[in-house]
Amino acid sequence: MTSNRSPIRESVTTIGRDGERRFLHPAIVVGAWWRARRLVAWLLIAFFALLPWVDVGGFPAVFLDVEHRRFHLLGATLGLGDVWLLFFVITGWGFLIYATTALLGRIWCGWTCPQTVYLEHVFRVVDRLFEGDHVSRAKLDAEPWSRPAKFLRRGGRALAYLILCWAVAHIFLAYFISIPGLYPMITAAPQAHPAAFVAMAVATGVLFFNFWWFREQLCLILCPYGRLQSALIDDDSVIVGYDEKRGEPRGKAAPGITAGDCVDCRRCVQVCPTGIDIRQGLQMECVACTACVDACDDVMTKLKRPTGLVRYASLRELAGGRTRFLRPRTILYSALLTVGLIVATVSLLRVQPAGFKLSRPPQTELYVVSADSVANVFRAKIQNKDDVPRRFFVEAEASPTKLSVLNQSAGLVIAPQAEVTLPLTLLVDRRDYRGEFNFTLRLRSDDGKVSVLQKAHFIGPAPSTLAR
Ligand code: SF4
Ligand code: SF4
Repeated sequence: MTSNRSPIRESVTTIGRDGERRFLHPAIVVGAWWRARRLVAWLLIAFFALLPWVDVGGFPAVFLDVEHRRFHLLGATLGLGDVWLLFFVITGWGFLIYATTALLGRIWCGWTCPQTVYLEHVFRVVDRLFEGDHVSRAKLDAEPWSRPAKFLRRGGRALAYLILCWAVAHIFLAYFISIPGLYPMITAAPQAHPAAFVAMAVATGVLFFNFWWFREQLCLILCPYGRLQSALIDDDSVIVGYDEKRGEPRGKAAPGITAGDCVDCRRCVQVCPTGIDIRQGLQMECVACTACVDACDDVMTKLKRPTGLVRYASLRELAGGRTRFLRPRTILYSALLTVGLIVATVSLLRVQPAGFKLSRPPQTELYVVSADSVANVFRAKIQNKDDVPRRFFVEAEASPTKLSVLNQSAGLVIAPQAEVTLPLTLLVDRRDYRGEFNFTLRLRSDDGKVSVLQKAHFIGPAPSTLAR
């Protein structure tokens, strides 16, 4: 069903009183903001599509190799042991969103969110191509399916959607299996790679459902970020807002009737992709897409009045004050973001092309005392994350007592992307033994590219119980 209701603040326009889905057909408006947003959208789409093709250090720039539990990010290879770095990625992302929302409102939603980018700049273009402008699309909704024209136009649109969703799903999949991995899967029969085929089919289906049916409802009722708006935005955040002081009372001026600049043409409502009326104030449904800004500027230009009746402004500015950009919350969010960025960058730079973990083997004596020495046995897990074989050595690095690591003269060659678990025997000469102590082991490679430290504790008897 198509929505022709006037927007009200108490409910969303896309859901009828009986809970039925009401489809919106926003009018297209081409203005300065729309052109800028389209440019950003196409740059983002190109970035998303090309990134899997860009090679950094022998791997795609972003390659989330789930099958081998490795993640390649801009030349750095992360294993499962480096997953803790995700903490900085997630918190950094969170603080970035917090800081930009406090400063610039929902700029993420309007300009860069994949939902907006694809819906506004790809799928709505297809809508116009097959079904015409917003008036034709609304009329087509009302027509019966028995009409061949409706069947052909809507069927053609559905086919175009399916092809686009299929293409996006493949690009998405390339981030997990790489382009060289994807190509044979595309060219082979589905039964040759059933898991990848199912993943691609599910992704295509989800995308199709989202862009064909669910659409703006993702922003209105599902996305949690929109709900955060009320907590993150304050009177100084720059939002898309209507200048009530200038616009009201709305309507046409006539002898004896004074009117503001809003001529109540409702053009701003017709273009709104979430079906709201910006003149009702800041609403959770507003994704800050600027369509209403372009629409109203167009009307104002035609009426030879100043543009900006609907514009980017803070609530304080719209009320006649001055926007304060430096506020406790923007300073705090920016400081946290800066600290997070520094820590994440340093951590990423320190990621090693090898993993080294020490543990005590189960059901093994904690220590063994022989005629010459006290021994501790550890289990070492060494992972070569690189794509070349490498020879590794384990050495005692910092120890208060002379400590030897057995069988390390020839080192250990580990194949590319392989992991080896081996027993590691550490010995202290009986004459040197002075009781339990902490020490550090270093895993190094013969080419000098690996240097990983691991701390451990040497366990032994009380020195007084050992006869020298
Ligand atoms: S009110 Fe304006 S900025 Fe907000 S979603 Fe609607 S058209 Fe976009
Ligand atoms: S487009 Fe501008 S003039 Fe027309 S109704 Fe909206 S705010 Fe008023």
